[in-house]
Amino acid sequence: MTTTKPERCFQCRLIVQECICRHISPFLAEHKITLLTSKKEERIISNTGRLLRLMLKNISTVYVGETGWEKDVGLEISRSDYTPVLLFPLPHSRDGQNIIEETGKPLNIFVLDTSWRNARRWLRKPMLIPLRKIGLITAPSSEYYLRKQSAENYLCTFQAVTSLMADLGTKDYASASFHMQEKFKLWVKSLARERGLTLPRPCYATQGRT
Ligand SMILES: [Zn+2]
Repeated sequence: MTTTKPERCFQCRLIVQECICRHISPFLAEHKITLLTSKKEERIISNTGRLLRLMLKNISTVYVGETGWEKDVGLEISRSDYTPVLLFPLPHSRDGQNIIEETGKPLNIFVLDTSWRNARRWLRKPMLIPLRKIGLITAPSSEYYLRKQSAENYLCTFQAVTSLMADLGTKDYASASFHMQEKFKLWVKSLARERGLTLPRPCYATQGRT
């Protein structure tokens, strides 16, 4: 007996009947996002980096390990219109707002859109070592419950980036944020339903970093 796979939207990857793409109005943020991901990660349906690409205009993607990726990262780092930083929670992570005040420029925020294990590995790439690391001031509870829980309360890429945008006081972000969170919740709910997952209790811990 063969089972037919449901047809999926090639952008949001939900089954076509539940596609959220046509309801998304992408937001042009003053800060740029440079998403570092991999082709493997992109094939994972529950990857949330793809939602950022749908909802933000000022975003570019670099596939780590693909031909020319180091050059692309180098070009992003050398841009004179932004201050490059890397979003990663470390004990000595800095507050992004201070860096903006110091340099007078918006940020080019490098985000590691991969598993946490991989992210720690990528953090040691020679070209990423000099980047200033920034963390979140206020971290919300995770709303992403599509991957297994772990001991640590990590946020998925989407929630980490949207929380950071709020922390930084990004211009015009308040109304965009409402729209983005609403679409994110619909997306999670749709995938959860498809996988037969029950809705979680509030304050959820997840392992997902994608
Ligand atoms: Zn779609």
